Amino acid sequence: MVITKNDVQHLKTPCFVLDKYELKKCINDFQKALDTRFDDSIIGYSVKTNALPYCLKVAKDSGCFAEVVSFQEYELALEIGFNKRHIIYNGPLKSKETFLDAIQHDAIVNIETWREIDWLDDLPKNQKYEIGIRLNINTTAISKEDAFGENDDSRFGFSYESGDFQKAVELIRAKRHVRLVGIHTHKESKTRSVRFYQRVIAYVLPILTGLRLQLKYWDVGGGFFGPMPGKPTFDDYARCFRTALDGSPYANVRLVVEPGNALLSSPFSYVCSVIDVKQHDGKRFVTTDGTRNDVDPFFHKEDYFKRFVYSDTPQLCHQPQVVGGLTCLEYDRLFTLPEGVETLNVGDRVIFDRVGAYTMALTPLFIHYLPTVYLKGNDGDYTIIRKEWGVDEFIRKSIS
Ligand SMILES: *Cc1c(COP(=O)(O)O)cnc(C)c1O
Repeated sequence: MVITKNDVQHLKTPCFVLDKYELKKCINDFQKALDTRFDDSIIGYSVKTNALPYCLKVAKDSGCFAEVVSFQEYELALEIGFNKRHIIYNGPLKSKETFLDAIQHDAIVNIETWREIDWLDDLPKNQKYEIGIRLNINTTAISKEDAFGENDDSRFGFSYESGDFQKAVELIRAKRHVRLVGIHTHKESKTRSVRFYQRVIAYVLPILTGLRLQLKYWDVGGGFFGPMPGKPTFDDYARCFRTALDGSPYANVRLVVEPGNALLSSPFSYVCSVIDVKQHDGKRFVTTDGTRNDVDPFFHKEDYFKRFVYSDTPQLCHQPQVVGGLTCLEYDRLFTLPEGVETLNVGDRVIFDRVGAYTMALTPLFIHYLPTVYLKGNDGDYTIIRKEWGVDEFIRKSIS
């Protein structure tokens, strides 16, 4: 829990609240779990999951690398102060310039597209450079119990089954100035189970040994649970990687993880206020100054870790309460409370916990601009680490 009910009255809503101690704790606990089983391991903070500059700084100061997936995220990581050696560069949206720059400055670069293989020819030939490559993972084929839907294939990485992976490896091997030293096997599973990673490793090992790849690192990607009762722990994941790699030629590789959700969900809460209530069609329609765009931008969630702060002692409500957001879209409905629970009134507040991953990074500039972000201090004080965006920020670089 980032925020207590007493504190919440003083905040300007809608807003996010960050508990940086929780973020640090997630990072430290994951690193400790890895250190117990691996001599050499790295946590790459998934920048796309939450690119708030303050969080990037906390991640950097806690020893994380920045895991970036576009030339702009690469530039953002540099702006925050990450050393190029502490950047993991993934995804199809690398620019040629930043791709070559990253390789020449010893970043971890995982090849995702054919054009990147061509770009390698533009590196100066008088030196040796190290790169990695992403392998395509079809979850249904490897572990159908962990799959999203019937056919959980992937758009990313080179496929072994199609022959693309071998072809890419051969093309890279033919370049005398480049050494392939890393494998990247990120895939998010539906279940986030330990079993999934065991099966991924069991699938990948014979491919690597078959091609006699000599690796320095194995980047297993993200897709982990954060601290949640009853769910796999960081220690469970670390143990699974240790066991799966033991006895293989890759038992001593540097293990790279790229957690997004696991680090960023729990350190953030979101607070909004009830601004109006109407009564019709047998329901109570409660309007807030928050929006589902802020806490569930994919509109997939069925429920939230939510709490209420009432201005007065509430009566029980004999109708369902439809709690909606600030936008003028009918479907901006956050949740519906069943009849018989406490009545929401103007001035009451709703707190959403565990909302730091894939939320604020995806907030559209729709009707309401980016909301305030507070940092929660040790002694119940709150400081603003991002001011609410206004018209000035919105029209910047536009011409009218
Ligand atoms: C999105 C992403 C992550 C983070 O995934 P989570 O499921 O949030 O842990 C890690 N690596 C890559 C390559 C990604 O695209």
